[in-house]
Amino acid sequence: MTPPMISLRELRMAYGSGAGRVTALDGVSFDLAAGTFTAVMGPSGSGKSTLLHCAAGLDRPTSGDVIIDGVRLAELDETGLTLLRRRRIGCVFQAFNLISSLTAAQNVALPVQLDGRRLTSEEATAALGAVGLADRAGHRPVELSGGQQQRVAIARAMVTRPAVIFADEPTGALDTQTSRHVLELLRELATAQGQTIVMVTHDPVAAACADSVLLLTDGQLTDRLDGASAEVIAAHMARAEAAC
Ligand code: ADP
Repeated sequence: MTPPMISLRELRMAYGSGAGRVTALDGVSFDLAAGTFTAVMGPSGSGKSTLLHCAAGLDRPTSGDVIIDGVRLAELDETGLTLLRRRRIGCVFQAFNLISSLTAAQNVALPVQLDGRRLTSEEATAALGAVGLADRAGHRPVELSGGQQQRVAIARAMVTRPAVIFADEPTGALDTQTSRHVLELLRELATAQGQTIVMVTHDPVAAACADSVLLLTDGQLTDRLDGASAEVIAAHMARAEAAC
C-alpha cells in the first residue's frame, strides 16, 4: 500500500492559557492519499482554518503530528519548514494575497524567485494559461476581477508543482460560474497531475466536487463522507450545526 501524502496524528491546538484557553483542535487524525481532493467542512469556529494552517506548516500545533510526504513537520526547524512550504506545499486563500504592485505574471513567479530560482516569462504565461489567463499576464490585481485574481492565486500555488495544495474557502468570494471554473481546476490538479488538494469550504456544492468530505465539530473529526452529493453533504452539515 502506498503511504499517505498527508497524515494528521492526534493533532491538538489550543490558543491562550488559563480561563481564556480555547481548544481549536482536539485530537484530529486522518490520512489522505496522493492525488485526492478533500473538502473540510464544519460549523463556524469548529477548527477548519486552524487545521489548514497547522497542516500547511503555517502554525505549530500544541501537540500531535503533521506528516507530509513522509516528513514530520515537528522535526523541521524554521528554515526546513520554510523550504518544505516553498517546494512541496501551495496555499490558496480567500483573500488572494496577491501583491498589488506586481503583474499577474510577476505574482505567479514570486514563489519560484523566493526559492532562489528564475521563472521565464514563458513559464509564467504557461501557468497563467492553465487557469485561462494567458492574456492577462501584464495586468495588475486591481485590473482583474475577483475570479481572475483567485485564478492567479491558484496559478501561483501551482507553479512550483507542489505535492499538496491547501485552499481556504477558495470560492468564497466568487460568483457561481467562476466558482465552478476554480473547482474544476482543483479537481483537474488532483486527477490529472496527482496533486493532493485539501479545501476548506462552507458550500456543499463546492464540497461535492471533492472525493471526500471531512466534517469537523468542536475541533474533532465527527464524520467522513465519500463521493456524497451536495444534498447529502448539506444534510450532514445541518445536523452538525444543530448540535452546536
Ligand atoms: P473555523 O475556521 O472552523 O471557523 P477556527 O479554526 O478559525 O475555526 O477557530 C477555531 C476556534 O479557535 C474558535 O473558537 C476560534 O475563536 C479560536 N481561535 C482561532 N484562532 C485563534 C487565535 N489566534 N487566538 C485565539 N483563539 C483562536
